[in-house]
Amino acid sequence: MVIITLQRGKCIGCNYCVEMDPVHFQMSKKDGKSVLIHSVNAKGFFTLKSPNHGIVESCELAAKACPVKIITVKET
Ligand code: SF4
Repeated sequence: MVIITLQRGKCIGCNYCVEMDPVHFQMSKKDGKSVLIHSVNAKGFFTLKSPNHGIVESCELAAKACPVKIITVKET
């Protein structure tokens, strides 16, 4: 599995993750923060689990681009 997390409350709305991976991230028009598409919220940590390891590369680019380091990518 691939597990992506976004600690959304700390997002500063810079849009870099969307530029790196628009398939998995988009900006909210409501509050200007990033949304991890199809994720589930558990106490502010939005998590997306996927069996598709092909998504790792683009998600890691988004994680590396994030200036406040609130995106993580793990493979299990
Ligand atoms: S790169 Fe980080 S701070 Fe910037 S919009 Fe995405 S999650 Fe928010």
